[in-house]
Amino acid sequence: MYKRFNISLFFILILLIIAGNAYSKNDIHATRIWPSQEYTRITIESIAPLNNDQMILKNPERVVIDLKDIAINEAIKTLPSQLLENDPNIKKIRVAQFTTNVTRVVIDLKGQARVKIFSLKPIKPYKNRLVIDLYPENQDSIAILLKQLEEKRSSVKSDTKKNISNEIINPKKDVFKEKIKTDQIIVAIDAGHGGEDPGAIGKGGTREKDINLQISKKLKSLIDKESGMKAVLIRDGDYFVPLAARVKKAREIKANIFISIHADAFTRRSVRGSSIFALSEKGATSAFAKLIANKENESDLIGGVSIDDKEPLLAKTLLDLSQSATVDDSIKLGNHVLKKVKRVNRLHKKHVEQAGFAVLKAPDIPSILIETAFLSNPTEEKNLRSQAFQNKLVMSIFKGIKSYLKTKPSIASSGSTQIK
Ligand SMILES: [Zn+2]
Repeated sequence: MYKRFNISLFFILILLIIAGNAYSKNDIHATRIWPSQEYTRITIESIAPLNNDQMILKNPERVVIDLKDIAINEAIKTLPSQLLENDPNIKKIRVAQFTTNVTRVVIDLKGQARVKIFSLKPIKPYKNRLVIDLYPENQDSIAILLKQLEEKRSSVKSDTKKNISNEIINPKKDVFKEKIKTDQIIVAIDAGHGGEDPGAIGKGGTREKDINLQISKKLKSLIDKESGMKAVLIRDGDYFVPLAARVKKAREIKANIFISIHADAFTRRSVRGSSIFALSEKGATSAFAKLIANKENESDLIGGVSIDDKEPLLAKTLLDLSQSATVDDSIKLGNHVLKKVKRVNRLHKKHVEQAGFAVLKAPDIPSILIETAFLSNPTEEKNLRSQAFQNKLVMSIFKGIKSYLKTKPSIASSGSTQIK
């Protein structure tokens, strides 16, 4: 009896040691690559925070990352095969067991790049993430947006084309930005979420980020066909753009209107209908608006933002000067759009609601966020996937924008929202 007790104790001790080891061992859980013209992101997701060393080397340009206490496994082995041949920034990725407890990842670059490496704490649906962002040295996100503007312009004014092309090389020149505004109304279209942030996911597996981008592209092509108007996509692929960067981009291209496209989910599947939101400077106009704003503002946490990507708050004086007037205009714009949207879908709320949406904070651009429909509602998920519904919806948004612009001759003639 006494002896048997000792043996049991021995086995329990062995089990505890094994369990303890398994617990402390870190493992790669998943790896992902998000390519775009703007930057390419690599994400290495692990059970525990990754202990790592980094080297950025030249001739040839490459980034070396040593993952400590990590044994090579399937999740990290699949990283090189995820690389697309036409990735704008990465030439090749190599992964190898460097020493017994170090796995080395070598990223060969296509050219010079700014490298940002940072860690993210777990947030649903992710565990710990190590993020490697590679920004091409001679490319800037505004230059990409300006190219979108040039496409239409070049067909309109061939004589000015040469100047504009020169300025695209150096887009920070103010003279270019002044020129943009002379002949057209610029609509910034912001497809919500992207990359690491899928947004809502429908029961049928539909990802909000994909629907948002499809709708945004359709809206852009409608607007671009209209003379005197031009649309720019704040993101045009499956990659993440931080919320503050979306606002910054819209301001740098001097957009007259900012439209953020979403299709969210709600806990109750019966909830359906379109709704439109504007910024609130005080509090939310309803508990629902507050909930939606909180959810949308989480995008930065899920999508992944480095500390230095968090834009400093806009100068207080600038905010004081113009935000109230802009919010009034945003509500007007929202109401015009809502009036047209209700002809193609039922409304969840009959008027524009307000809450503290980070993406609607441009102090000088009327900005609205459209929740096109609910992915959590089976009928609306089906609608959102349908080309016919998307087309009708986009046409109604377009008509709403035009109807708003008719009440704003100052924008239409001067191309500036500053004159009120
Ligand atoms: Zn959303």
